[in-house]
Parts: sequence; structure tokens; C-alpha cells
Amino acid sequence: MTSARIPRADEDARVVVVGASLAGLRGAESLRLAGHRGPLTIVGDEPHLPYDRPPLSKHVIAGEMAPDATTLPHRLDLDAAWRLGAGAAGLDRQGRTIVLSDGERLPYDRLLIATGARARPWHDEAEGALDGVFTLRGRDDAAALRAALAAAPKRVLIVGGGFIGCEVASVCRDLGLPVTLVDPLPAPLAKVLGLAVSGFLRDWIAAAGVEVRSNTGLRSLDGRDGRVVGATLDDGRTIAADVVVVALGAVPNTGWLEGSGLALESGALVCDGHARVRAQDGGLHPEIRAAGDVALWPHPLYDGRMVRLEHWGNAVAQGEYAGRALALGDGDRPAFAGMPEFWSNQFGITIKLAGLTEGADSLAVVQGSLKDRRFLAVYGRAGRTVAALSVDCARWLPAYAEAIAARAPFPPIANALDQPSRLGTLDPSWPTPPPEVSARG
Ligand SMILES: Cc1cc2nc3c(=O)[nH]c(=O)nc-3n(C[C@H](O)[C@H](O)[C@H](O)COP(=O)(O)OP(=O)(O)OC[C@H]3O[C@@H](n4cnc5c(N)ncnc54)[C@H](O)[C@@H]3O)c2cc1C
Repeated sequence: MTSARIPRADEDARVVVVGASLAGLRGAESLRLAGHRGPLTIVGDEPHLPYDRPPLSKHVIAGEMAPDATTLPHRLDLDAAWRLGAGAAGLDRQGRTIVLSDGERLPYDRLLIATGARARPWHDEAEGALDGVFTLRGRDDAAALRAALAAAPKRVLIVGGGFIGCEVASVCRDLGLPVTLVDPLPAPLAKVLGLAVSGFLRDWIAAAGVEVRSNTGLRSLDGRDGRVVGATLDDGRTIAADVVVVALGAVPNTGWLEGSGLALESGALVCDGHARVRAQDGGLHPEIRAAGDVALWPHPLYDGRMVRLEHWGNAVAQGEYAGRALALGDGDRPAFAGMPEFWSNQFGITIKLAGLTEGADSLAVVQGSLKDRRFLAVYGRAGRTVAALSVDCARWLPAYAEAIAARAPFPPIANALDQPSRLGTLDPSWPTPPPEVSARG
């Protein structure tokens, strides 16, 4: 990692990072740590310095943490020019220039794209703009939702049973607020965990006092005098609510790359395993890397399957990988192979997931039990261990993560402490996708 490894010309290379958040910050730090001394500019469309998002749906909306207390620590003096509050509006690949929304042009020699994702909006713009309707992605969203929850609404309606919807529901119950969660699938988190596990979760959520309406789509959000008053379900029934949180997942921020000639797939930026961005003609741009929620890339652990991960740990690891590659080139470095890892705190439990459950055909509870709300379960696919899920039972999770990385057979560890004497194998039971509007998120 000495500066001697950087050719002289590279020392003066102008590096621009677009996206001033987790992946961008960690990428910039890693670039500097790898010895790059040239000019560095970090562009962010938000007015804030990089901040942490996981506390937003937990401590911030609960009123336990001020929104500005989420600012991320900088691990070193970046010696960077910060361009905050004016995002990138376009990329001129041939001219190696970023065009900002205020018209300024920023030339680059190396570029890191870390523009992340934004909350998927409600499909009807006018309904989504009603007072009392919220999405949750940024610090300002969290501050606004916190204020609405602190005003003691009569009922909060949460649209979408993914991680953020469930975490918001959990905070609402902690605050003593009546809350309804509507989701088109048979149970919250069913898409990620499968019905065998999420069926239990649905019961715990209901036991905490959330009115869970599974298998239910929403037809409309209903307003009066510009304020939301509730929603109409697909079957015509209505729910009265004065706060609605639309939690339908996230979409990658790549609108500014339209027309740039870079390859986009379902809105995500297509990369190779070295975080090099791909052009529409299939060529690679070694001088442009991408990292974090915006990037779609082949994961070596999953046979090169293209993945886009919305995980804090991935934004850190991939940001660091990309920053280092921009400083030092690729040499004989292996492709990025970070273990997908995710956590969530809700309803008094901590959920941790290592690996990818997608396509799993078997499931074994290897520690604890589902009915005790404390267990470690392993997912298998075609005889291989592909993911491990812990609910308040994380002690052995690193061992299972190692097994996933080693492509161990399923189930990978037998006769471990605390394991049931006979490991039964279950069907994870994946839900069939619901129809169009209901399928969002
Ligand atoms: C509420 C919430 C809770 C979460 N909780 C967890 C959790 O418990 N565990 C977990 O593992 N993960 C969690 N995550 C996911 C995690 O925070 C993300 O994976 C991570 O923030 C991704 O980092 P990123 O830098 O790739 O993208 P982002 O954090 O989305 O940052 C991208 C930045 O780029 C900016 N930008 C977009 N377009 C432009 C443009 N054209 N020009 C300039 N700037 C632009 C954006 O405004 C944003 O500031 C949570 C996410 C949210 C929203």
C-alpha cells in the first residue's frame, strides 16, 4: 500500500466521488489510505455531510436520537472539496466530465459512483403528496416522520412489510401508537426469509399489538383537504389513518446516468466483479467504479449471479474495495466477494442474516427454536449452505458465515453445542409474487 506503487501520472489524477453517503465516504477514505494524493471532490445532492441510515428507522423516529447525531465519523482527514446540495445531473463519458445540477462541470480522471437508492414512491403522485404520507430514506424524512409520530396520530398505516415497514411498526408500538401494517404477501418479510420463518414473525408482530393485514393490496390513499385520512384496500374496505408510511423498497439513483452510455439493468448500474462500470456496448471502464446500493454485480460466492445489495456492510466493504482499486488499479486482486450481511432491530429482537436466501430449497433450525423467538436457521440450495439467519442467537452466526463462504454442504455443522439432536429439514416456502400494484416492495 505504498505510494511507490502508484505511477507518477496517477498521483495528480482528479478523483470525483458522486454520492456523499456511506459507500462514497468509505471509498474516499480507502482511496486516501491507499496513497492517492491528487485532488478529490465529493458530490452529494443532500445538504448534509455523510450520515448513517440504520438509526433513522429505529432511534431517530423513536425520538431517542437527534437526526444530526447520525453524522458518520471520518476516519481520516480526507483533504477533499465537498460539493453538497447540488447533485450530479449528467455524465459525459467521452469528455470525462460530471455535470452538476447547478450547471457546473467537474472534470475527472477517476470516478466513483455511489449514488445509492431512494425510497420507492407511492405509484399515484397526487396521493403520495398528501400531508401525512411519508417515505423513509433520508435524515430529513426521518425528522419529518418523527414530528408526525410525536403528535400522537390516531392510527399509523404502514404500507409494505419489508424491513423498514416492520421497524417503523415496531417503533410505533413502542410509542403506544395504534398501527396497521398492510402487505400483499402472506407474512411480513416473506420475500427475504420465506413463509416458514416469517409466519412466526407475523404472529410476534401481531402479539405486539400491530394489526397485520397480510395478503392485502392497497387500491388508494385517500385524502380530504390535502391531508391523508386513510386508504382503500383492493377489496374496497377502508382503513382510517392520519399518518401513512409508504415502505415499498428502494430504487437505485441512476436517473442522472440516462444517456451516458453506461449499462443499466432494472435501474441499477451494471458492474463487473472488480466494481468496474460496464458500458452499454459491453466494454468496461476501469476509471469508473461503483459501490453500494446503486451497483449490480456478479457475486462469486453465488456462481456469478448478478446481485444488488441494500446492506450497510456491503456499502462499506464495496466502497473500500472500489476506492482502493481507483488508487492502485486491479493488479492481481481477486474480484470483490464480500459476504452479504444484514441486521434489523424490531419488536425486541435482533435479526441477523448472512448470505443470500434467494432460491433456497431447504431450511434447518440448527440452534434454539422458532416458537421460543430465539434461533439460528440455515438455508440450503441444491445441497449447499447459502444463508444463515439468527434471531437473538448470533453466537454461532460467524461459524455459519464461514461455512457459506466455504460453499459447505447443507447443513454444514452437525453435533454443535445447543443443536437439536435430530436436525429436521423444512421447506422455506417462498410466496408466489402477488399481482401488479400489490407487488411493489
Ligand atoms: C431507514 C433505513 C434503515 C436501514 N437499516 C439498515 C439496517 O438495519 N441494516 C443494514 O444492513 N442496512 C440498513 N439500511 C441500508 C443501508 O443504510 C444502505 O445499504 C446504505 O446506506 C447504502 O449506502 P450507499 O452509500 O450505497 O447509498 P445511500 O446511503 O443511499 O447514499 C447515496 C447518496 O447519494 C446521493 N445521491 C443520489 N443521487 C445523487 C446525484 N445524482 N448526485 C449526487 N448525490 C446523489 C443520495 O442523496 C445519498 O446521499 C437501512 C437503510 C435505510 C434507508
